[in-house]
Amino acid sequence: MATDMTADMATPAVENLVIIGSGPAGYTAAIYAARANLKPFMFEGYQVGGLPGGQLMTTTEVENFPGFPDGIMGPELMDRMKAQALRWGAELVTEDVISVDFSQRPFVIRSEETELRAHSVIIATGATAQRLGLPSESLFWSQGISACAICDGATPVFRNAEIVVIGGGDSAAEEAVYLTKYGSHVHLLVRSDRMRASKAMQDRVLKNPKITVHWNTEAVDVYGTGWMEGIKVRNRQTQEESNIAARGLFYAIGHRPNTSLFKGQIELDEVGYVVTQHGVQTSVEGVFAAGDVQDHEYRQGITAAGTGCMAALLAERWLTTNDLVQEFHQTAASEQSAAQPEVKSEAKTEAEAEAEFDLAQTRHQGSFALRKLYHDSDRLIMVKYASPTCGPCHTLKPILSKIVDEFDGRVHYVEIDIEQDPAIAESAGVVGTPTVQFFRDKALVGELKGVKPKSQYRETIAGYLMAKV
Ligand SMILES: Cc1cc2nc3c(=O)[nH]c(=O)nc-3n(C[C@H](O)[C@H](O)[C@H](O)COP(=O)(O)OP(=O)(O)OC[C@H]3O[C@@H](n4cnc5c(N)ncnc54)[C@H](O)[C@@H]3O)c2cc1C
Repeated sequence: MATDMTADMATPAVENLVIIGSGPAGYTAAIYAARANLKPFMFEGYQVGGLPGGQLMTTTEVENFPGFPDGIMGPELMDRMKAQALRWGAELVTEDVISVDFSQRPFVIRSEETELRAHSVIIATGATAQRLGLPSESLFWSQGISACAICDGATPVFRNAEIVVIGGGDSAAEEAVYLTKYGSHVHLLVRSDRMRASKAMQDRVLKNPKITVHWNTEAVDVYGTGWMEGIKVRNRQTQEESNIAARGLFYAIGHRPNTSLFKGQIELDEVGYVVTQHGVQTSVEGVFAAGDVQDHEYRQGITAAGTGCMAALLAERWLTTNDLVQEFHQTAASEQSAAQPEVKSEAKTEAEAEAEFDLAQTRHQGSFALRKLYHDSDRLIMVKYASPTCGPCHTLKPILSKIVDEFDGRVHYVEIDIEQDPAIAESAGVVGTPTVQFFRDKALVGELKGVKPKSQYRETIAGYLMAKV
């Protein structure tokens, strides 16, 4: 391992390489480029086009990524990739790129908070789950409709409820099976008379007594008062319409490449995928694309990682050929900054929670602490409801952690794992994760669902604190 304790790691005026996106493609590119002493700069993404860590943050077991014979949870795999990229000196920011200019050199890349110039770019922005556009979709979004079973399936409202999943591919099959853990029954709507899912996944669906497959069936609309109560469906052969009573509807209908940012800058195909040559070379020299953003055929973690590697190697070659490389060497300090994979917290007994509780602390965990704070706290109480398999919850954790640091001593922050504490989540009316609720003087004063811009959490807390004065 070539580490140089004396080398300069100062921020360059022009980056060697900017990587956009932090799925398997982005992190693999970052690992290779960092090991080549390019000190790549990565925009991990935040809200646009998925999550930091990418699509595998929204799944449970990944059973086919080489090197993990017993499988590995998607978020843990991505944590490990991130740790490896950091260890080799990649620089990461959790921000969305909002514009690029590939018409000038160096290229210009902008987020809301950062503007960089770079000699080369790797696009690894992946793909996003599609929506159906049903007439009442926006009315019932997060009021029954979700695009992430892994994120929302465990919420109390879906427990022992009838649930509908739409789609015929691997994601739909996986989500239908997963949701049988929580729902009383799962209805899988498939538009044709066959599924696109792999044979193994189809077998798991068809053998599961808690799943009914509705062949040749499409959704017409969702109905209900407030919360979704059912879905109107149509048989595509007979045109007959009927209702399925259900409290949950999960979309698993495919993905759209995240390329709106690059329209007019590089060549895209009619669907929006980046057109590449030699695997990863885009229509602009020095700009490469890796992973699902340029791959409508394989769309796997390992192929994304493979093309991420190719893109980094070609970027290095291109920089070297054009005499643009500025080398950076890894320092011991930067090696130590690698993120550690998260350790799962075990459920505590009431006695253990009571013994550990300290009102003077800002951070707390679990329902015991929440009940105590509810009665005894004179601060603003901020409660994050999360579930262990929820990728967005994972994304939000470091962001909220930083925000809580900013308000240390002025707020009480409690994390509730809704799998460990379903009753308290239910009584708080939590219908999806992550949800952040704010309490003051024993009253719920506000709620933020999903992942919001950092500034929104900061401003919300500041607003409640000001209001108290
Ligand atoms: C439910 C589910 C289960 C799956 N299971 C498996 C499995 O078991 N095995 C397997 O091999 N594959 C699996 N896949 C497929 C796999 O997740 C993808 O093939 C892989 O994640 C693609 O990686 P990627 O790096 O190309 O993009 P993605 O993983 O899609 O990551 C894209 C990244 O780009 C970022 N981004 C987007 N727009 C911007 C922007 N404007 N600025 C900055 N960043 C941006 C996003 O935040 C994200 O970090 C699964 C997919 C799903 C949805």
